[in-house]
Formats: sequence, C-alpha cells, structure tokens
Amino acid sequence: MDDIAHFIAGEPYYGEGDRSGPVFNPSDGSTLYQCRYASTSTLDHAVEVAIEAGRGWANASQARRLAVIFAMRQLVIDNSDELARLIGREHGKTIADAKGEIHRGLEALEFATNAAQVTKGEYSYNVSGGIDAFSIRQPVGIVGCIAPFNFPAMVPLMMTAMAIACGNAVILKPSERVPGAAAFIGDLWRQAGLPDGVWNAVNGDKEVVDAMLEHPRIAAISFVGSTRIGEYIYHRGCAHNKRVAAYTGGKNHMVVMADADLEQAASAFVSAAYGSSSQRCMAVSLLVAVGDDTAEQLRSLIVPKIEALHIGAYDDPKADFGAVITADAKRTVEQAISDAVAAGAELVIDGRGFAVPGLERGFFTGATLLDRITTDMDFWKTEIFGPARGIVRAQDLDEAIAITNAHEYGNGAVIFTQNGHTAHRFVTEVEAGMLGVNVPVPVPVGHHNFGGLRRSKFGDAHMYGPDAARFYTKIKSISQRWPVRTQSTIPLSLAFPS
Ligand code: NAD
Repeated sequence: MDDIAHFIAGEPYYGEGDRSGPVFNPSDGSTLYQCRYASTSTLDHAVEVAIEAGRGWANASQARRLAVIFAMRQLVIDNSDELARLIGREHGKTIADAKGEIHRGLEALEFATNAAQVTKGEYSYNVSGGIDAFSIRQPVGIVGCIAPFNFPAMVPLMMTAMAIACGNAVILKPSERVPGAAAFIGDLWRQAGLPDGVWNAVNGDKEVVDAMLEHPRIAAISFVGSTRIGEYIYHRGCAHNKRVAAYTGGKNHMVVMADADLEQAASAFVSAAYGSSSQRCMAVSLLVAVGDDTAEQLRSLIVPKIEALHIGAYDDPKADFGAVITADAKRTVEQAISDAVAAGAELVIDGRGFAVPGLERGFFTGATLLDRITTDMDFWKTEIFGPARGIVRAQDLDEAIAITNAHEYGNGAVIFTQNGHTAHRFVTEVEAGMLGVNVPVPVPVGHHNFGGLRRSKFGDAHMYGPDAARFYTKIKSISQRWPVRTQSTIPLSLAFPS
C-alpha cells in the first residue's frame, strides 16, 4: 500500500520520519493507502522552497500570472472526470456531486483572472506642494491554507486561486482524510506553468498545523473547517501576528411560510438537506415550518421524496448520495438521532443501521427526518455532519426569525415565501452571512463575497470573492515628490508637517 506523499517544489516529497495515517474508501470501508503526516522539519522544507520560488513569482508580471490562471482553468476542466473519481473514492460523494464542487472551484479561478483589476491602487495628484500620494498592493508572501474534508477540490481552489493570482506562494494543508485531490491539483498547477515551489501541499494533522501557525515566514492563514478548530486557529495565528480568515461550522435554517409554493419548498429542502450526505457547511440543517398546517403539508410532501432517495457507492450512477466520511462520523450521527428521540423529538424516518447490500462495511447512514425539534435539544444546537435533519415548528415569522437568530452559527439561512415584505424582513433581520430567498443553498457566485457571521467565521477578512484580493495583499501608501533641483527647496523645519 503506497503512501500518499506531500507535494513540494513541483513533485512528490516523502519527509523523513513523518508519521502516517490511513485514508479510507467510505463506500466500502477499505483502506486505500497511508497518508504521510508532515513533521515540523517537512514544513520547514516546504517554507524554504516557497520563499525561494515565491520571490520570483511575486515579481512576475500580471500578464504572466494571468496566463497561468487561464491555463489552470482549462486543465481543471480537461481533467475533471479523473479528479471527480478521485474525490468520490476518498470522500464517498457521488461523481455528479464531485463534478459540482469542481465547477464551483472553477469559479474561483475565473474570478482570479480579475486580480489585476481588484488589486489596483489609488492615486491622488498634488496633495501638497508637488507631492502625489498613491498606494500599491503587493503579495503578503507565503499563505498557509488549512482545508476541511468535505470539499477536497473546491475549498483548496477557492483558497489558493486568488492567493496565487496576487503573487503569493502557497502551502496547502489538505484534510488528512482526503489528501489525493491536493496532489492532483498541485500537478495541474505545474502543467499550467506555475513555477515549481509556488504551490505546495503538506499533509498531516495538528502537528503540522501548529507549526504553520507559528512559522515566522508564513504571513497569512486561511482556514475552513469546524468551529472548535477554527476558533483555535484564529487565536493562535493572530497571536503569532498573522492575518487569519477562518470559515467554520453552520446550522442553516430554512424558513417556509404558509404562502410559499410548498411543492417547490419540499423539493428544495430534500436536495439541499441531504445532498452529499449532508456534509456541506451550507446544507439546510433545519426546516422551520411557520404554522402547524404548513408543517403537516410539508411533511406529507417531503416524506415520499426522502423514501425515494437512492443511497449508494460514489460510482453508483443511480445514487443520490453516498457514505459519510468515517465509521466514527456514522456513529456520531446515529447517536445524535437517538439522543434527539430520547429528548422528545418525533422520529419520522429512521436512517440508523442502514447498509447498502454488498457494501456492508461502508460508512452509510440512511436519510433521517425528525419532527418537533426544539431549541433546547442538542439536535438543534450542534452541527450534525450527516443525513439527519429536523423540522422545527414556529407560529409566525417573528418566532421563525428569533429561532434562526438564537443559534450560535450564522453561516446561511433561507426563506421560502411569495411575499416580498416577508422576504425583506428576513434578509434584513437574520444574522447570517449568506441568505437565500426561494433559493435553498445560497452559496454566492465567485464575484461576490463568501463567508458567514457570528461563530461561523472568525476574522473580518474574506478569503474568497472580491475581498480576497485585500486579504492576500498588503497595502503600502506612498507620498512622492520630484522637485526640480534648481527651482525648489525643502525648508528646514522640525515641526510636524501640516
Ligand atoms: P475539522 O475542523 O475537523 O478539520 C479542518 C482542518 O483542520 C483539517 O485540515 C484538519 O486536519 C485540521 N485539524 C483538525 N483538528 C485539528 C487540531 N486539533 N489542531 C489543528 N488542526 C486541526 O473539519 P472537517 O471535519 O474536516 O470539516 C467539516 C467542517 O468544516 C464542518 O464544521 C463544516 O461546516 C466546516 N466547513 C465550513 C465551511 C465554510 O465555508 N464555513 C466550508 C466547508 C466546511
């Protein structure tokens, strides 16, 4: 069983003395290979390589950088079949779903072709006698990107496309559960003409992450993952004087008003709630039905749709969703269902103990629906990263908004209604970073900022969208005067210039 290596200086790198851990195929429970876990000395090597390569890349012309981004976009398109298979095998998501994430990753590359536009400086002419003031944006240097398991291609592309386009060098730390896509993407960057060493990947766990957070030559950290780890990364990274953007967990409420098109809302709920076995930060977690009659009607529309879902291996073309990431994740989700039932929730569809015939060792959990979830239950409070979803009943819009805002997370929230005033109140009053009106998964397109509020995001900066250009560059303000020697003198005065 071959080890998955790191990707440093444009080629696989096997650090001496690195630990390793297994990478599973969640669809059948088998171990695919071992993944190297980088030691501090492997990270030091990656940083040395990035410093050297980054110097040249920071000075490369905008035209040269742009050519690489365009070439990379085409290579991702040309290799999307192979990349999607690789993602599905390690993650468990269906090939169609993997292609969807690759498509969203392409948006990051497409937006990064605007780097020259979004990093333009400002110029003020003649601010004082013969002095012009202007600003320039330059790359921050080396960016450390720490990624989650649930989007093995999209998140690394989102994190790194603008960083590279702005002239930085990158060290990506993919999730140790899905390391394959990173090495694949690293090789595409090489083929696209990116100089070796500008884009690197080190695999591993806490040891290498901590080393990244403390390394004096890493200037910025982008993190996507759970809230517990993201909060730690934000504070430790800031304590080491880095700029940090950390996107974290979500518990996304979907409010359905009585006036909504309930058939449309029911379909939207099932696809947004259970797609990718609910392992998406923007998945709908809870359906907030406004009015008991709305709840009953929605239940009767949703139940047959869930019962018709086909669960299977990543490469089963009929599968609507696949396995969860690990055997532990399956246990955690099933325990959360049992706890909710014990706390008084009504079990409408029970997915516990589900197995796919012939794949009994796979990490599958069936789609589960619970009704009468209340805000005192752990099921409402915690992010459940698996296909167990719940219905909360609210009596009116005020209560639905209050429930949504009472949650500690504010990643996404959506409303289904046909009333413009209701929708306007919702988007004005709900404290979530990404909101949808009759749109179940409001992930913004690449030229809008992505990111949550409250404990779904730490740090003010965005790592994706127009603000990413600010995060991945530092600004310098310059005051400049070109006096003609014989016609101008600077009077000698020690007073503060006014
Ligand atoms: P995770 O927090 O377990 O891991 C994320 C990264 O942190 C991985 O690279 C992992 O190796 C590293 N890590 C794990 N434990 C660590 C520790 N103790 N110290 C230092 N580093 C550590 O998250 P996950 O399970 O891989 O991903 C799922 C989570 O990511 C969910 O909470 C999901 O909502 C979130 N997510 C958020 C967004 C967003 O945009 N807000 C997008 C995708 C995923």
